Amino acid sequence: MDSKSHPVEMFFFPYVGGGHQIPMIDLARMFAAHGAKSTIISTAKHTLSFQKSILRDQQSGHQIFIQTLQLPDNVDIADTDMSAPPQTDTSMLQEPLKSLLLQCQPDCIVHDVFHRWAADAIDNLELDIPRIVFTGNGCFSNCARENITKFKPDEMVGSDYEPFVVPGLPDRIELTRSQLPVFRVIQQHMRKSQEKCFGVVVNSFYELEPAYVEYFKKELGNKAWLIGPVSLYNRNIADKAERGKKGSIDEQSILSWLDSKEPHSVLYISFGSLARLAPEQLLEIAYGLLASNQPFIWVVGKVFKANGKEKLENWLPRGFEEEMTESRKGLIIRGWAPQLLILEHSSVGGFMTHCGWNSTLEGVSCGVPMITWPMSAEQFYNEKLITDVLKIGFKVGSLDWLSWNMEPRAAVGRDKVEEAVKRLMGGGEEAVEKRNKARQIGEMAKRAVEGGSSYKDAIALIKELKDRQKTNP
Ligand code: UDP
Repeated sequence: MDSKSHPVEMFFFPYVGGGHQIPMIDLARMFAAHGAKSTIISTAKHTLSFQKSILRDQQSGHQIFIQTLQLPDNVDIADTDMSAPPQTDTSMLQEPLKSLLLQCQPDCIVHDVFHRWAADAIDNLELDIPRIVFTGNGCFSNCARENITKFKPDEMVGSDYEPFVVPGLPDRIELTRSQLPVFRVIQQHMRKSQEKCFGVVVNSFYELEPAYVEYFKKELGNKAWLIGPVSLYNRNIADKAERGKKGSIDEQSILSWLDSKEPHSVLYISFGSLARLAPEQLLEIAYGLLASNQPFIWVVGKVFKANGKEKLENWLPRGFEEEMTESRKGLIIRGWAPQLLILEHSSVGGFMTHCGWNSTLEGVSCGVPMITWPMSAEQFYNEKLITDVLKIGFKVGSLDWLSWNMEPRAAVGRDKVEEAVKRLMGGGEEAVEKRNKARQIGEMAKRAVEGGSSYKDAIALIKELKDRQKTNP
């Protein structure tokens, strides 16, 4: 029987926060494009952010569906504005998920590791449904995290800012204690849910981090399929413009602004779906941008003042925005930006990023060199991959890990911002080298999904599930 008459049925159970839901939706769409039957499990409220792209896929003949879980009365989970932090409780979905699995018995379920109860709940059903984990991270950060946990090099140094080398890795990677997560609970959950799983799907591609893919599989013992960058499966403008949620600026305005700029001249600045910067930090960025005199698009997330309340005004120098708008030097987006559309535009020549894994891969896929400004999660590891292993970025000089629920503060001064922007965008020899390297890696990313290593891994997983169907009819 071929895959069309009886396709492999894959369930996808995304988490509710932006940096996790967005790639898992792409993942489900990618497997449907490769001939699987994909079903995305979500709540009625959360499907609103992606149902249009699923409808478009259905219209082009892909077998992709949405299955909503019924929440108990008077129970609600995270907002749909993409800003749910990793500690958001989703356990009210446990019973509806179990009933669905008992009823449907798909050929596999891919679940996000942030549903912390899901691994046990699925395993305890004893249904012989392969459970596949999605962590949202790449191999490099997984390897760095594992070896720090195992060898504890951070306990051998005398201060939070004294560098240590992460033991056992293919490259010499130095970090400081100040850059490591303060809370390790999420890491423990990740490891636990990977322990008894059928395998891990990784949003990355082999050629990006070959030594770490091998390390992740052979030394750390993971069965893994590298199937990314999944963002490359957004092929039409509507999918790119509405990915995650509809942008706060319409795509035509942003594209015509970008069209008016010289190739590689614009710096795109964004700190992801959870960005909460202090007003003092935003001021430093604004002054740094003024001094660097480089065209920019700056996505400003939520602005917080000292008491943790959202602050709406007075976080820019007086007259800054008016001046930038009039001179068409800079565009400030309050809220959500169509990131893929911006990054792939030929006028964009640099990306100042918080090094979230999706943003990192999206920058990589578009061949854009970066200024790295990690803040939280595994972002300090991703920075090391970008600057020390791939050598496609400059560090802004961020030193301290901060949790989503800690008070944001000004960590990087205007001089550092100016220096990093001039280094990357100023056309110097080093910057040209990084741009060329980024372009080459971007081309490798596209080849990986268009018949290359990532395509082959995705097909291999579908085949493995198909073979199980034959032996367990
Ligand atoms: N994103 C976007 N527009 C925004 C902010 C974020 O499209 O204004 C998308 C971005 O393209 C990426 C995701 O949201 O796919 C953020 O994920 P990432 O891992 O970079 O960071 P996180 O939000 O998890 O910190």
